[in-house]
Amino acid sequence: MALIVQKYGGTSVGSPERITEVAKRVLRWREKGDDVVVVVSAMSGETNRLVALINELNPEGLAREKDVILSTGEQVSMGLLALCLQAMGCEARSYTGRQARILTDSAFGKARIREIDASLIKTDLDAGKVVIVAGFQGVDADGNITTLGRGGSDTTAVALAVALEADECQIYTDVDGVYTTDPRVVSDARHIPKLALEEMLEMASQGSKVLQIRAVEFAYKYDMPIRVLSSFDDGDDGKSTLVTREEDIMEEVMVRGVAFNRDEAQLTIKGVPDKPGVAFDILGPISDANIEVDMILQNVGSDGSTDFTFTIHRNDYPDAMRILQETANTLGAADCSGDQRIAKVSIVGGGMRSHAGVASQMFEALAKDGINIRMISTSEIKISVVVDEKYLELAVRTLHEAFGLSAEAA
Ligand code: ADP
Ligand code: ASP
Ligand code: MG
Repeated sequence: MALIVQKYGGTSVGSPERITEVAKRVLRWREKGDDVVVVVSAMSGETNRLVALINELNPEGLAREKDVILSTGEQVSMGLLALCLQAMGCEARSYTGRQARILTDSAFGKARIREIDASLIKTDLDAGKVVIVAGFQGVDADGNITTLGRGGSDTTAVALAVALEADECQIYTDVDGVYTTDPRVVSDARHIPKLALEEMLEMASQGSKVLQIRAVEFAYKYDMPIRVLSSFDDGDDGKSTLVTREEDIMEEVMVRGVAFNRDEAQLTIKGVPDKPGVAFDILGPISDANIEVDMILQNVGSDGSTDFTFTIHRNDYPDAMRILQETANTLGAADCSGDQRIAKVSIVGGGMRSHAGVASQMFEALAKDGINIRMISTSEIKISVVVDEKYLELAVRTLHEAFGLSAEAA
């Protein structure tokens, strides 16, 4: 008998019919003798609807109140699934993040899970119940409701799997696994049956939203295998992707996939003094405001001054620009500017460690299609470039083809 944590995303619970299909699937796993904990997202479109309501009334409002609102979508799904399972004769019990004792920090809107007290869930499982937990939410030390950032139900699922020492964490979504790139952008993207957690970590952090980055971080840290599958497949023997330790993957591939991210914005401060501590003067206040910086570029100085460019999440742009303008005044900088129409494209692959020349192959392919590169950053297993947003899809297709990733090329 195994303990399985299953997470169902928004489209998988998007209607009463879809919820019924989920309930049937959960029952099939139960009938095999497995214990099942189910994590649910809000019904598709619901979180966007709640965000729009907030923006209509008071977009500048307190993040605490926003989380009170945003967390409700998942609460509806969990209750509906519990009712559906009960109607099928299965004992099921639903819990919000707070009821499930998922303790987080107080970073509203992007809270991190600190601890889970799983004793209540274990008692229910021992009593033969199916436990349903609302994804994307928790409670801070003061009892406030928190949310984990968009896509955060994946993280709830992996964190629960770790806390419960589950055998596998299954992420059910609307695609039957991880592909070489988003199949909605490149229709002949290739299915990847097995993928290293390290590679998935890079893919997710570079924008492949099939799994939330923090979910993969958890899985990597605690060695929890994740299986990505489709809730739209009829049986339980369809295709899937197992994301697991690198040692368990036989073949090493130079470029595994192409990831992209439209959610970035670029900020530049010009004419700052070229002296020790200036990077800290610029980025310190940004990080104090809990804004994550992605790429950083400092030009070679001349005449005692230099320019400094960095990228952040687009949602943080207004705050970051305000902070940067204050810094510019303090430092006596010449000018601040920003661009929200940029995008980042990355190639990711464990085999890059041992292959030279991947970067030049990437730059050559982009140049051939006339795509200008604005920033570059590399790590051991990825190369990212920032391009104008209007070239994003072209860049993704170009790189997908240049590295022979299409299904046909297999
Ligand atoms: P859910 O609501 O189930 O969490 P998401 O929309 O968050 O689903 O994630 C699934 C989507 O991720 C797919 O529909 C697909 O468009 C997108 N996606 C992005 N990159 C990839 C990739 N490399 N492989 C598979 N799907 C991807
Ligand atoms: N409902 C939340 C979102 O849309 C969390 C999730 O689906 O994972 O981002
Ligand atoms: Mg998701």
